[in-house]
Amino acid sequence: MTASFLYRSRPSTVVFGPGSSATVGDWVGKLGCKAALVLSTPQQEDQAKALAESLGGRAVGVFAAAAMHTPVAVTETAVAEAARLQADCVVSLGGGSTTGLGKAIALRTDLPQIVVPTTYAGSEVTDILGQTDAGRKTTIRSEKVVPEVVIYDPDLTLGLPVGMSVTSGLNAMAHAAEGLYASDRNPVTSLLAVEGLRAMRDGLPRIVAAPRDVAARSDALYGAWLCGVVLGSVAMALHHKLCHTLGGSFDTPHAETHAILLPHTVHFNEHAVPDLLAPAAGLFGASAGGGLWDFARSIGAPMALRDLGLREADLDRAAEIATANPYENPRPIDRAGIRDLLQRAWDGARPDN
Ligand code: NAD
Repeated sequence: MTASFLYRSRPSTVVFGPGSSATVGDWVGKLGCKAALVLSTPQQEDQAKALAESLGGRAVGVFAAAAMHTPVAVTETAVAEAARLQADCVVSLGGGSTTGLGKAIALRTDLPQIVVPTTYAGSEVTDILGQTDAGRKTTIRSEKVVPEVVIYDPDLTLGLPVGMSVTSGLNAMAHAAEGLYASDRNPVTSLLAVEGLRAMRDGLPRIVAAPRDVAARSDALYGAWLCGVVLGSVAMALHHKLCHTLGGSFDTPHAETHAILLPHTVHFNEHAVPDLLAPAAGLFGASAGGGLWDFARSIGAPMALRDLGLREADLDRAAEIATANPYENPRPIDRAGIRDLLQRAWDGARPDN
């Protein structure tokens, strides 16, 4: 029987395809704008300048100081720069860090956003914004930060290093995996989650084999979109909470932490909801957790938290922080169980207990 559900979708525009970033200027015009501020990290400044150049008179400048975790000080500088240049929209070129800056600007100014994602993080299709101020990270959900237009151009991801492609891809897959058992899931988000996982499963190994394979890049970017929509539509649980704990308290890198923990958190929850995770088990092997671990290893992902600089002595405190406040999860969260999960993830062991 089909269970009762609530379904909502967002009125944003998605343009997908190799070469589609050539249409950014058209989309600036379609939004009724004529003065775009192009955003990027310092590492992608050249790419951002080239994009700004391609916009001709429709770009008023490049702000290339986006940084991990959206520091408020950077946002305030960018808002001042947008005002000085009389920008009437922003174009965010990059991964989650740059998208986060665009969202933070939109939150404060209501400027429309066009996002051109170059990783698989998925932030461009969510209403979520994490910001840091004096080292403290806070996360909000607001429709005000949802980008108006997203332009997925696989050509711009050809240079994403293989290691980052793998961890970023597994980061995306984590959104879909947790979407499968989200308490507020609906039939559409479940379809998107399975298709997102499938596209990543098919795309990532081919990227590892041939990083400039446009077809493989297209599959992964398509999967990233679907996984991002799931993240933006339903509640995340244990996996995202643990990644948040490790990133926030021990400064472990975002995508790598997701990549390492995913098989372990899925395995933990598979004990409680094997039926909901059956589509993932079908895609990756006999069990969803074990299958995801085998998949991650086959594409050369980092496998052990110990390799991220986390000390074994930190695991007790991590388990304590992660279980301090109750939150939704299909399997009740107990400290001993989470401590055991963290140990296996720290060791890099296959989750098969
Ligand atoms: P990132 O945006 O920090 O990018 C990492 C580095 O890779 C940067 O230097 C960037 O310039 C570079 N890079 C990006 N694309 C490249 C490409 N194609 N070629 C070469 N270099 C490239 O990394 P990320 O994993 O995309 O984003 C992580 C951040 O996004 C975190 O702060 C995370 O919290 C946030 N995030 C937010 C959401 C949300 O919904 N709000 C979702 C996912 C991630």
